[in-house]
Amino acid sequence: MTRQHVVVVGAGLAGLSSAIGAVDRGMQVTLLEGRPRLGGATWSFERKGLKFDNGQHVYLACCTSYRRYLARIGSAAKAPLHRLAIPVLRPKSNGSGSEVAWIRRSGLPAPFHLAASLGRYRYLSVRERANIGRAALSLRRLDLEDPSLDQETFAHFLARHGQSARAIEVLWDLIALPTINVHAHEASLLLAAKVFQTGLLSTNGAADIGWSQIPLTELHVDPALAVLSAHGATVRSKAKVSALVLNDDATSVTGVVVDGETIDCDAVILAVNASEVMNLLPHPLRADFARVTELGSSPIVDVHIVYDRTVTNYKIAAGVDTPVQFLFDRSGAAGLAKGEGQCLAISISGADGEQGERPEVLIDRYQRAVADLFPLAREAKVVDAVVSRELHATFRGGIGTQRLRPGVETKIDNLVLAVAYTDTGWPATMEGAVRSGERAIGHLAQVLSVASRSRGDTIMKEAI
Ligand SMILES: Cc1cc2nc3c(=O)[nH]c(=O)nc-3n(C[C@H](O)[C@H](O)[C@H](O)COP(=O)(O)OP(=O)(O)OC[C@H]3O[C@@H](n4cnc5c(N)ncnc54)[C@H](O)[C@@H]3O)c2cc1C
Repeated sequence: MTRQHVVVVGAGLAGLSSAIGAVDRGMQVTLLEGRPRLGGATWSFERKGLKFDNGQHVYLACCTSYRRYLARIGSAAKAPLHRLAIPVLRPKSNGSGSEVAWIRRSGLPAPFHLAASLGRYRYLSVRERANIGRAALSLRRLDLEDPSLDQETFAHFLARHGQSARAIEVLWDLIALPTINVHAHEASLLLAAKVFQTGLLSTNGAADIGWSQIPLTELHVDPALAVLSAHGATVRSKAKVSALVLNDDATSVTGVVVDGETIDCDAVILAVNASEVMNLLPHPLRADFARVTELGSSPIVDVHIVYDRTVTNYKIAAGVDTPVQFLFDRSGAAGLAKGEGQCLAISISGADGEQGERPEVLIDRYQRAVADLFPLAREAKVVDAVVSRELHATFRGGIGTQRLRPGVETKIDNLVLAVAYTDTGWPATMEGAVRSGERAIGHLAQVLSVASRSRGDTIMKEAI
């Protein structure tokens, strides 16, 4: 029997995971990526012998599709989960380093698992702390199917439920900003409710947090390529698809065009950015998807600083009243052995203000901010520092976003989308990307087996 041939266009997490899903279903796969490197929005680079990621990526235990992907390609042990315990640092006013408050879970059932640490959260007044529970319980009760949720900002909802501007800034935005990539005053309540309900308010361990101990390319791409190659898939980089080929009555896609060459296939998965999807979709479908271009984008900037010594023992920390939103110890992933120094990645989400700033300005600002938090950094020598910027890191999760997000299916049965901005309910995350990949390949598997069955029926009838 000839295997069904699926072409996957785009090798971000959605493309990679749908390609793996396709080979697992016995399909023949060609994966085409326009850039020289694979991994899409998750990639790594080398500089002066050390390895850096384009941006720090974390996931939560509730990201079940992403975890399935890691497990399938054999990477799960390289991005282990840690019980939720995040130190939130604030520089002391006397300049002697930082004070800390912890956001950590206890063994109690959700949502009470956070009550003890939030009750002690020192950056809020006693009254503000007492009010947190009321807003959390209202957030937990919201119906994610209610379209009005997408018409209100998260901050507006929080204010309606007794949260002060300070509580929004130093508590709620600590979670909303890195997950939705816009501040609570802009974020859609729908996306925030999804994040908080799924991650923090429903199950005790759902917000246990994981991140890669190795560079992202080694976590997501290299092992996926090994699986694809073992299944005989063809993978090409620098292979930008310029057009899709349709049959005469435009009811079916029959191939893709790369560098003037047509690759014939039985189905196509478009796993590409919003701007590109409009270029590639056939004219009859464009009107249905035009709204994706209104999604907009939101930047993420990372400042990576390599010190000649260890300046902090925290592996992860958040900050309040400092420019540092989150910082991570990336020494091991960068390739530094114990005693060889420390590499910190400072991650800035919703980085509208930082995206256009000169690297030396950002490096100076964050070097000072780290020194304010950790006195040891004042004595340390900065061996290297580099800024990575992703101007279109995620779609902009503001109000009215939901109606702009397409499903994975199109009017052409054997053409599907797989990409984080499809209608997964999740913000633009690794989970959303893999989830869309799973949906896309699940849909195609149905369509193709129906198509091959009906072809089989025709052959049988002709034989009779
Ligand atoms: C700095 C940064 C930090 C982030 N932090 C987190 C985090 O902590 N947690 C989290 O869950 N998510 C995070 N995200 C978001 C997450 O990385 C993305 O949502 C996810 O990786 C998107 O995957 P995707 O496959 O949907 O799209 P993409 O990764 O954008 O992949 C699309 C691919 O299609 C290719 N392509 C486009 N056009 C063509 C064409 N014509 N032919 C062939 N190929 C084409 C592109 O080159 C690209 O490789 C972060 C993103 C960034 C940038």
